[in-house]
Amino acid sequence: MYEIGHFINGEKVAGTSGRTANVYNPATGEVQATVALANDADLQAAIDSAKAAQPKWAATNPQRRARVFMKFVELLNQNMDELAVLISREHGKTIEDSKGDVIRGLEVCEFVIGIPHLSKSEFTEGAGPNIDMYSIRQPVGIGAGITPFNFPGMIPMWMFAPAIACGNAFILKPSERDPSLPIRLAELMIEAGLPAGILNVVNGDKSAVDGVLAHPDIAAVSFVGSTPIARYVYGTAAANGKRAQCFGGAKNHMIIMPDADLDQAANALMGAGYGSAGERCMAISVAVPVGEETANRLIEKLTPMIESLRIGPYTDEKADMGPVVTKEAQARILGLIDKGVEEGANLVVDGRGFKLQGYEDGYFVGGCLFDNVTPDMEIYKTEIFGPVLSVVRAKNYEEALDLPMKHEYGNGVAIYTRDGDAARDFASRINIGMVGVNVPIPVPLAYHSFGGWKSSAFGDLNQHGTDSIKFWTRTKTVTSRWPSGIKGGAEFSIPTMK
Ligand code: NAD
Repeated sequence: MYEIGHFINGEKVAGTSGRTANVYNPATGEVQATVALANDADLQAAIDSAKAAQPKWAATNPQRRARVFMKFVELLNQNMDELAVLISREHGKTIEDSKGDVIRGLEVCEFVIGIPHLSKSEFTEGAGPNIDMYSIRQPVGIGAGITPFNFPGMIPMWMFAPAIACGNAFILKPSERDPSLPIRLAELMIEAGLPAGILNVVNGDKSAVDGVLAHPDIAAVSFVGSTPIARYVYGTAAANGKRAQCFGGAKNHMIIMPDADLDQAANALMGAGYGSAGERCMAISVAVPVGEETANRLIEKLTPMIESLRIGPYTDEKADMGPVVTKEAQARILGLIDKGVEEGANLVVDGRGFKLQGYEDGYFVGGCLFDNVTPDMEIYKTEIFGPVLSVVRAKNYEEALDLPMKHEYGNGVAIYTRDGDAARDFASRINIGMVGVNVPIPVPLAYHSFGGWKSSAFGDLNQHGTDSIKFWTRTKTVTSRWPSGIKGGAEFSIPTMK
């Protein structure tokens, strides 16, 4: 057993609330740690240290800020094995997948090493007689990030890397399910040269989130998690005068055209549907083969692949996927599978009875495949967030396109085809934020930005890429006249640049 507290003003501290939550090993079902749940006093201590440190950090020139990230990237690489274990033992995903989690965050840190260039501003010389005009982007002050359990490395780094590079102080409220990695990241940022107080980690649950949303000193809130909470955080932050970007759930479709390379498509579906036990917001959970023959051939290829998935604890180096995160998640997923059967979908591969010797109390769910799913079914409408793939058969391209178009969520989507015209039409017409053409999980790289549409995102600026620099800074525009523009006396009509 170990205890996880907070990270405030450059050091690990215990919580003062007396409230804790259990942190489980999902492979065994054992409680392996407790995590402190912050109260207002813990949050205030973090904010006090952030407030004290931020002005000096903002005044540090951007090259020096960038150098902290150069060193941090080096430390992440040096400590990669340890970091991956910290994730896997609390999240349950495989070690390789946990490394991917760290690396996708590390790439955002690499991106923000370009902050001197990214934060350069606009200047117009001679906007009027003797008038120059320039816009500068200044840090918002103190930003906060509220993150989900499924990427405890990548998503905190999506947020704190640009926020801190822009000169802000940051309060991270990670998921209480797997809180060890975020604390370690904060320690490494200090080792990389970040001043104490610029990155604080406050663990907690709804009450810590509400504390963040109500606090007058927090200017901007970034959230990633489920849609109902994203909507709540967005609304509350806005009502309290904060800027917010909130990313929610997903139901990502993959359209498989009759001309697609079906081996390629089946392999893509395996990785995108079952990797990380389906607990990715960019997982493919709906396959839409076009035409009966495509559907039959696809099911034929997928069935043995799903039946032979290797499922195990993170210590099994050969495992394709691990358990799901909690007992509640397991029960919810199993309940949704039962519901799919009740609703009349055809459960071609049934993973409900999966048991692993020696890990009988782990939160495992075997890979499941549903055929003949229809849009009115619960398993189609709801984000299952588990290793369950639904096949919805479409007669033609237009019918296939219509499915993700009409779905509530709009995070990611993919099309598999050899036809450039179909792919181009699809990318242009689809109302979804991230589109893959023969790419199953089209997660944009750090220098582009990440974000969905419809109920998958609230707010107008995405994660990382140049959007993140805009989100974590505010614009100030200066109009200046030198040296003697007021000689002519007062002006009573609005100045124009005619
Ligand atoms: P979650 O919504 O349960 O929790 C996310 C965060 O919100 C956590 O920090 C949690 O402590 C906090 N929280 C939980 N309940 C709250 C409440 N009632 N009030 C205030 N705060 C609360 O999400 P999760 O289960 O950790 O993560 C899975 C979800 O995240 C899935 O829906 C997945 O699709 C989504 N997700 C989305 C993206 C994206 O970029 N769109 C990326 C990853 C995960």
